[in-house]
Amino acid sequence: MKKYIMPMMMFAVFEAVAITLWLAKGNLFYLFNFTYIGASVALGVGLFIQGNRNARRVTQLLVGLYMLVYLGLISNENMQIEGFWYYLFTGVFEAATIHYAVAKIFGPLLFGRGWCGYACWTAMVLDFLPYKVPRHPRRKGLGPIRYLTFAVSLAFVSALFLAHVGNIERIMFWAFVVGNATYYAVGIALAYAFEDNRAFCKYVCPITVFLKPMSYYSLIRITCDHDKCIECGKCRRACPMDVDMLDDSRNRVNGTECILCMECVRNCPRKAL
Ligand code: SF4
Ligand code: SF4
Ligand code: SF4
Repeated sequence: MKKYIMPMMMFAVFEAVAITLWLAKGNLFYLFNFTYIGASVALGVGLFIQGNRNARRVTQLLVGLYMLVYLGLISNENMQIEGFWYYLFTGVFEAATIHYAVAKIFGPLLFGRGWCGYACWTAMVLDFLPYKVPRHPRRKGLGPIRYLTFAVSLAFVSALFLAHVGNIERIMFWAFVVGNATYYAVGIALAYAFEDNRAFCKYVCPITVFLKPMSYYSLIRITCDHDKCIECGKCRRACPMDVDMLDDSRNRVNGTECILCMECVRNCPRKAL
């Protein structure tokens, strides 16, 4: 049982958030929502400990599909960045704002970009494509595109409010549908063009404007025991995000790009990571 302490602790953290929000907001949804996500995360970590190769994908599908289909399409909650701006402007502390606060703004101080590895419904689809490990080095100069997409999402929602457009709630639902379709189309096209499943994450995704600076301070991160390492390079060759996990310094890529997918750990023959 000792080896399952980590997933049990993770479940306990989510359960604490679930109970706190349930009692604070008087809404049973929060108890269900965070219990479900906590159980999915704990299941994935437990499977990883058992050596299951698909552990991460199990969590990714359980959480990603829940958010995309149940929260987004059935419950009409825009969980994309436009939804975050919308609820922020209306001053409503709803699922989308809580989701951003927990998963993408303050949570990364603890678990870095775990969201990108285990929960994102965009990456959930992109990770099925054939280029799990990029075939080419990271392209220089494309990163700033993320600031453009971030600004466009903010400008779009601001314009709706400034123009006093009616029935914004309905527009936000369709923005979620069209936005996701666009993300998938651009993400898949980029993956094939750059031969890199995660090209969209590296260059375009606006969420990284929140995720990267916060994950720089993440408590949970991959480190290398250089006494065990034989510099075989298998870890670097397995990384989807071009991280040099042998370099423990927090430079721009190493400090903010790891999605905690554990591929490097799994591929290390010396258990040095
Ligand atoms: S970078 Fe964006 S698209 Fe990629 S996994 Fe993270 S949130 Fe999802
Ligand atoms: S796979 Fe392990 S032993 Fe090989 S370089 Fe990476 S950390 Fe070192
Ligand atoms: S392979 Fe290792 S360094 Fe690369 S993203 Fe996954 S966990 Fe992070």
